[in-house]
Amino acid sequence: MDGSGVSQPFRLEARRIRKSFGGVEVLHGVDLHVTGGSVLALLGENGAGKSTMVKIIAGDYQADAGEIAIDDAAYAALTPRQARDLGVAIIFQEFQDASTLTVAENISLGRLPARRGFVSWSEMRARARRVLDQLGVEIDPDATVGSLRVGERQIVEIARSLSGSARLLILDEPTAALSHHEAEVLFDFIRRLRSQGVALIYITHRLDEVTEIADRVQVLRDGQTSLLTDVAQTNRREMVEAMIGRRMDAVGRPAAPTHPIGETPAIAWQGASSGRAFHDVTIEARPGEVVAIFGKLGSGAAEVGETAFGIRTLDAGTLTVMGKDDAISGPVAAIDRGVGFLPADRKAGGAFLVRPIAENVAIVSWPQLSRGGVITDAAEAGAFSRWKERLAIRSRNDPRQTMGTLSGGNQQKVLLARWLERDSRVLVLLEPTRGVDVGARADIYRSLRELAAQGVAVVAVTSDYEEAVQVADRVYVMSKGAVVAALTGDGIESGSLLAAAGG
Ligand code: ADP
Ligand code: MG
Repeated sequence: MDGSGVSQPFRLEARRIRKSFGGVEVLHGVDLHVTGGSVLALLGENGAGKSTMVKIIAGDYQADAGEIAIDDAAYAALTPRQARDLGVAIIFQEFQDASTLTVAENISLGRLPARRGFVSWSEMRARARRVLDQLGVEIDPDATVGSLRVGERQIVEIARSLSGSARLLILDEPTAALSHHEAEVLFDFIRRLRSQGVALIYITHRLDEVTEIADRVQVLRDGQTSLLTDVAQTNRREMVEAMIGRRMDAVGRPAAPTHPIGETPAIAWQGASSGRAFHDVTIEARPGEVVAIFGKLGSGAAEVGETAFGIRTLDAGTLTVMGKDDAISGPVAAIDRGVGFLPADRKAGGAFLVRPIAENVAIVSWPQLSRGGVITDAAEAGAFSRWKERLAIRSRNDPRQTMGTLSGGNQQKVLLARWLERDSRVLVLLEPTRGVDVGARADIYRSLRELAAQGVAVVAVTSDYEEAVQVADRVYVMSKGAVVAALTGDGIESGSLLAAAGG
């Protein structure tokens, strides 16, 4: 792989990188190197400094100290433009795409093919087809990006960076939003790029992905490298320890509930199966409890959650909600039974971004809020003001402010408010804090605990073990479509969750 040909392989070396935000140093002199034809997995807990490190490499942030050497030239700082010209492409956690444009337009964004000063639409479409074919995916180049599923959007982002002929491709937690199949397509693609001599930095906190696609692994903890080794030379336990170190206890467990827990489950799956997604699943949540279903992508955890809202049906077994076990035929039936549901993809699943916040809160409670079939702005504003303070929704004091102007965390709080206003007795959340910053995350956990204290049964489906540790009274661990462990109280800690979820 090294120096065999006439042309030198791509080589990037970041040396002693330091970075502070607001006087707090978050990278304490980190080294990182990656060469063409290899995949470096960058691991670490939330806040370890992974994104900051790669943003410095991509020129999006400037380091306070240290240097970046690419091929033979060293730079104290790069601009995004310079980094791009040197062949560095980065795909962020949050979408950067323009949702009203087509797939083809997105892929050529910033580099529209022009002929005699006019944009060449046919060339643009051909370019899009070429990259999408290379990726082995069937996405219509003429579809608007806003109409795609999350996974497809991610692929379009990757296609965009590839059409710019990257020599180093950085992927920041790309699979968080992908289905199992899409993740496999992505991995195939990463392998293909690697064999073509592209260097890759792959950020994840899923250990099984590290063993599946990476050659080397670097673990960051609190802004320092805690492990750097060949993947073949390490194992799961060593990586987990490097990630969480002594901070295991610092991932706070919530205090044990002091409020009463209901006798009868508010929601219970009994021997439940659905297609190839999951089988013989038995899970329950009682009024007053926060239950987490923890499982990696493809474990079936998300699909179990979806059955609570009638988005997916059972082939066998029962789902009992508030004492009734007749099938939930769809969202309307679920809402009638007192189920509130927050999907993983806020934008596709219920956040009306161009509508006012107050309307987003009130929308499923219109029958209750309307007078003689008429819903007024004042009634909606009332619904909003009931929850703004309690959920610490950070917005202007204006119920007509549009949803899309809020941060991800605050949008998620508005969606929570929607179900609280509806007086839901069961609240099922898929990946409740995905794409939510740390501060808002803590607010959301606190809100979920408070809801439980008021007698709601909360079910959080998550692929983030820290989330399960921080929020749940009880955790079911799923793997390959089955419940493989149920943990309670002190039994809920990162190590046992990861061990149970398996490789
Ligand atoms: P990771 O990607 O490993 O989860 P990040 O690099 O995003 O970690 O964050 C590392 C630390 O830097 C965190 O404490 C985070 O809050 C902080 N941080 C990151 N970006 C900014 C920013 N733009 N402003 C202030 N603090 C930031
Ligand atoms: Mg990050």
